[in-house]
Amino acid sequence: MDHHTPAEADPHAEIRAEVRKLCAKFPGEYWRELDARRGYPTEFVKALTEAGWLAALIPEEFGGAGLPLSGAAAILEEIQATGCNGAACHAQMYIMGTILRHGSAEQKAKYLPAIAAGELRLQAFGVTEPTSGTDTTALRTTARREGDRYIVNGQKIWTSRAEHSDLMLLLARTTPRDQVHRKTEGLSTFIVDMRTVLGKGLTIRPIRTMMNHNSCEVFFDNMEVPAENLVGVEGKGFRYILDGMNAERLLIAAECIGDAKWFIEKARNYAKDRVLFGRPIGANQGVQFPIARAYAQMRAAEAIVKQGLQKFERGEACGEEANMGKMLAAEASWAAGEACVNTHGGFGFAEEYDIERKFRETRLYQVAPISTNLILSYLGEHVLGMPRSY
Ligand SMILES: Cc1cc2nc3c(=O)[nH]c(=O)nc-3n(C[C@H](O)[C@H](O)[C@H](O)COP(=O)(O)OP(=O)(O)OC[C@H]3O[C@@H](n4cnc5c(N)ncnc54)[C@H](O)[C@@H]3O)c2cc1C
Repeated sequence: MDHHTPAEADPHAEIRAEVRKLCAKFPGEYWRELDARRGYPTEFVKALTEAGWLAALIPEEFGGAGLPLSGAAAILEEIQATGCNGAACHAQMYIMGTILRHGSAEQKAKYLPAIAAGELRLQAFGVTEPTSGTDTTALRTTARREGDRYIVNGQKIWTSRAEHSDLMLLLARTTPRDQVHRKTEGLSTFIVDMRTVLGKGLTIRPIRTMMNHNSCEVFFDNMEVPAENLVGVEGKGFRYILDGMNAERLLIAAECIGDAKWFIEKARNYAKDRVLFGRPIGANQGVQFPIARAYAQMRAAEAIVKQGLQKFERGEACGEEANMGKMLAAEASWAAGEACVNTHGGFGFAEEYDIERKFRETRLYQVAPISTNLILSYLGEHVLGMPRSY
């Protein structure tokens, strides 16, 4: 199966081919072994970093590839479509955008070239908290200014890759919620150099999850962050995080499209090869149609994501496409996963087929980084003009 839109010339065909070549060195056995022990794919992330793929969105003046967002989407889609898992490192692509857009000249010069060179890892994003969840502005972590530093207290949850990152982008409240006009004000974004505070105010505790995602709880106990690590203006951090969300949604959608393509290819091949009752199982409509339906869902999601990427790259508002694309792609990958498991019968449950692993991995994207309900509420309110539902 073609891994991109068949009828059109793909501007990122070369990137896709290179990424696939790299991913071929990390077959199912590699991921299965890591999955069993919840290990981090250090060699895979190193290979992607050395090839420059994780610095795709860093401008050339800072040592990156300076690719447009669609280039990064192509990289992540191919990673997933080959059966690998970009979750180990995808965040670097979208977290970095906050520093790029809102960081000072000093912060950009200090961090971006080192990230591009693979000397610094920016993989951790500390927004979600146990008590506030999706209600981000209710978060309780505080950062109090004392002289030339901030003192941070509180807790984050689901801070993925915290153990495998040098830096964390952290959202904390700098002005109490009852002292701001709008609850979206008074939140600030910081670059935390975790190497300097681990064990000195910062504690990281891994959470074992359904799939291998290296997610953690993170605790701050009078953790000191130099004032120079504040990104942009104090109190405006929520806006900076929101600014990056469309890019994040489009990239996650691209990963789901990659997953859907992997499942569909696997299911299609098996449906053609497996012979029962004297004919391939794919000759039965009950087997064939769910695969065909998932393909149609994937292609529809792909078209919306493409529109979103084009609008993003033209600097136009793309909230509608980014949200719809993320939801549709996550649903398409899940439908494709379902079809793939059913097509394989009992073998769909055997670890050596990688289907059950991918099935667990792709399930996440209906919940994180934003759940389907919250996407629907965005569309209901902001696109369709209905009353706010929360
Ligand atoms: C493996 C994993 C990795 C993650 N990585 C990160 C990370 O690196 N950094 C980070 O900051 N976060 C991360 N997250 C957190 C993720 O973004 C949240 O789990 C997600 O946004 C949902 O928030 P919640 O879990 O607190 O659920 P809640 O906000 O408690 O919501 C629970 C359910 O209620 C629904 N709901 C809530 N409010 C409404 C409403 N008003 N209307 C309709 N339905 C509603 C939601 O849709 C959801 O289904 C990760 C999560 C997981 C599971």
